[in-house]
Amino acid sequence: MISVIGAGPAGSFYASKAKEEVHIFEEHKEVGKPVSCTGILTDSIKRVTDIDKNLIISKINKFKIVAPNGNATYVDLDKTNMVLDRAKFDNFILQKAIDNGAKLHLNERFLGYKKINGKYKIKTSKNEYETEMIVGADGPNSAVARAAGIYGDRKFLMGWQARCKYEELEEGVTEIRLNLGEFSWIVPEDNKIARVGVLGVNNIKLKEDYRKILGASKILEDQSGIIPLYNPKQELRKKNEDIFLIGDAATQVKATTYGGIIYGLIAGTYLAEDKESYVKNFNKKLGRDLWISLKMREMMNVMTEEQCNEMIQIFQKKENIDVLSKHDRDFPSKFLFQLLMKEKKLWKLGFGIFKNKVFS
Ligand SMILES: Cc1cc2nc3c(=O)[nH]c(=O)nc-3n(C[C@H](O)[C@H](O)[C@H](O)COP(=O)(O)OP(=O)(O)OC[C@H]3O[C@@H](n4cnc5c(N)ncnc54)[C@H](O)[C@@H]3O)c2cc1C
Repeated sequence: MISVIGAGPAGSFYASKAKEEVHIFEEHKEVGKPVSCTGILTDSIKRVTDIDKNLIISKINKFKIVAPNGNATYVDLDKTNMVLDRAKFDNFILQKAIDNGAKLHLNERFLGYKKINGKYKIKTSKNEYETEMIVGADGPNSAVARAAGIYGDRKFLMGWQARCKYEELEEGVTEIRLNLGEFSWIVPEDNKIARVGVLGVNNIKLKEDYRKILGASKILEDQSGIIPLYNPKQELRKKNEDIFLIGDAATQVKATTYGGIIYGLIAGTYLAEDKESYVKNFNKKLGRDLWISLKMREMMNVMTEEQCNEMIQIFQKKENIDVLSKHDRDFPSKFLFQLLMKEKKLWKLGFGIFKNKVFS
């Protein structure tokens, strides 16, 4: 028996692909709730899983990126993004796991484990179970990572988010404001309701930025949550043991826009395919993109307002917008090089930002 801790997308997707008997332990009474996510996914998700039409709340075909001085650039997406009903999505993936024979234990919290005669005995809030393998898919604060001593040096960001009502919204256009938080967004569900948020280190300034992005909108539902910062040194497996981490539990979140769903699903796929090559495969195929995202984030975090304005100016040029339109932001290694080859001003800007970083 394999024990998966956490019925989020990463854990359930792993369970939907596993070849052995799987038990999923979820601490909540209901899967998918409470929601702490915008649920926006790029078209790349289709290469990982099918998506039922009834999960899609809206489609995004344009990004409006606003500089601190108010100038904006519009990026038309060649392939639309989708905004999902996150609770339904989690249950959709869970159903795949159940169809694959997984047993679900709701309202049952993982508390720890002991190793006895080469096997693991896990202790939950209800019982004890003998198991051959433990998969920690239990989110940013992973109790599995703690119990196994592979929690590492993790950092967290706060994502303040709410579903809000507006007088009138531009449907299909996601707005990003560069001077709020590390990242901010207004993602419309339709022309009246949007998922609105900011993300960054939790401090007074972030709260102020949250108030700014909320503006005069009316809050319908709070959907805030924490996000782990990708740690390239995070252990994905406890050495010489069959204890693994996937998804947010393994800090597999890209640091540019802080999306983690696609990476968690891919991690689940690799682990189910072959546990022995999971760590190597994940790091080889996705480690580079996560690392580039982290470095891009470190640069973005030290940009001055003038540099942000300059960047938007650069991205008002059609040739540069075209590169962004065509490529998927989940995998920056595919377009960063192209952009740097095309636009000399980016080198100058990058050098200036690098100087801020060194002297900050
Ligand atoms: C405000 C906000 C907006 C976001 N927007 C996006 C977005 O638009 N697109 C995107 O791709 N990502 C987004 N993310 C990130 C995304 O939500 C996560 O990357 C994703 O949920 C990770 O999935 P997971 O299965 O690894 O973990 P989770 O979804 O966190 O699932 C972990 C599960 O484990 C359970 N659990 C925890 N501890 C225990 C325990 N001890 N015992 C049993 N069960 C336990 C939890 O209840 C939960 O169900 C956002 C995050 C936030 C906070």
